[in-house]
Amino acid sequence: MSAGLASAGAVIVGAGHGGSQAAVSLRQDGYSGPITLIGDEPGYPYHRPPLSKAFMKAGDDKLQPLRGEAMYLNHGIDYRPGTTVRALDLTGRRCILDTGELPFGDLILATGARPRALAIDGCEREGIFTLRTAADAQRIKRRMAASHHAVIIGGGFIGLEIAATMAVLGKRVTVLEIGERLLARAISPVVSDHVLARLAASGVDVRLGAQVSAFEGKTSVQAVAALSGERFLADVVVVGIGAAPAVALAAEAGIRVDGGIVVDECLRTSADRVFAIGDCARFPHWPSQSLIRLESVQNATDQARHVAQVILGATTPYTAVPWFWSDIADMKLQMVGLPIGADRHLVTGQPSENAFSVYHFHGDDLVAIDTVNRPADHMLGRKMLASGYRPTEHDILSGRLSDAFRQWSAASPAGGAIRSA
Ligand code: FAD
Repeated sequence: MSAGLASAGAVIVGAGHGGSQAAVSLRQDGYSGPITLIGDEPGYPYHRPPLSKAFMKAGDDKLQPLRGEAMYLNHGIDYRPGTTVRALDLTGRRCILDTGELPFGDLILATGARPRALAIDGCEREGIFTLRTAADAQRIKRRMAASHHAVIIGGGFIGLEIAATMAVLGKRVTVLEIGERLLARAISPVVSDHVLARLAASGVDVRLGAQVSAFEGKTSVQAVAALSGERFLADVVVVGIGAAPAVALAAEAGIRVDGGIVVDECLRTSADRVFAIGDCARFPHWPSQSLIRLESVQNATDQARHVAQVILGATTPYTAVPWFWSDIADMKLQMVGLPIGADRHLVTGQPSENAFSVYHFHGDDLVAIDTVNRPADHMLGRKMLASGYRPTEHDILSGRLSDAFRQWSAASPAGGAIRSA
């Protein structure tokens, strides 16, 4: 990187998992110019995953900061909370903020995603929420405290995590999922069926193929109506039907957007020295070469580390193996890889013991592993997929996968070099 670029400074828009990591990585990796991190939420960047898990159960509203205040100060990061970037002037290379203007040399867009709303009859009733931020979580928690009947719309990770939490807190919980199985976009049918059975056993009423038609009640929600004609009592509703990438800033500035801010293998957008990372970015998935967008902490933080390197001159493509976790009732779900093109799978362990793993193959290649309460399988899977190891069905079913991988690593010329696990 030339001194000129550094002195113009790096600006990062969005102070979530990706933005905060990018600021710190830039400095730790040697970026010498000013670094400004702008976030529209108040306070210091915090861990988002607990919002649908521990935060809902906790007696207080404490957030888990991603890093202490000293980290930003000691790294010379100018952090500006409660500040919104309203527009980008790419010709003048400046951000237009609600508080003024800010020039940039390099710009990282880490704007995340926004929950999709359900625009149906009665959607303006009180007691209907989406969940993305700490402020959302606080509102849900306050409402929940005085509620008895919860309806969760959408059987994705966030919806199911909240459903399980609310059931533990003694609420009558119904999940309405429009599709034919839970978590359909992310995991295999065998895991979907298992999650459904465990939730049902813990008292959650899960309805598949349920299409919501209206919210009923005077000012506050009292029931959710389905197209089938059924009505479900509700004094609190959480809509968890997915999130849309926050692309407006980029799109209005003329940066290429197509289901996310489109970036190349080095996370560069269509505009010079403007990058996008995390939930808002659509990037080339290296094994399939398809453009994908992922919503996970791993993706946001690994892309943040990578973009820091690219800004400092690296030209290596982003190839980290994706992984994700979720805690639903008594299940720790961990996924690694993506089952794109998968044509068969093997199951090890016992669903009846609430501990098993599903290995997805595309031809002879292991492409993804879903695990339920088998963290060791997940960790081994991350190492295997990152190193390029190709286990056979026999390796997996023999129960000696770990040994087989160790032997392969010792014998392979690169020593089983791990890309990024
Ligand atoms: P974010 O962390 O969302 O940060 C983006 C930030 O940019 C936000 O603060 C946003 O307000 C701000 N912003 C946007 N536009 C502007 C602007 N114009 N000006 C200033 N600021 C702006 N992932 C997992 O891997 N495991 C989990 O268990 C898990 N659980 C989750 C539970 C919940 C309730 C939620 C909401 C998400 C969960 N995720 C989980 C997903 C994970 O949190 C996201 O993938 C991750 O936060 C993405 O990081 P990011 O930096 O791309 O976006």
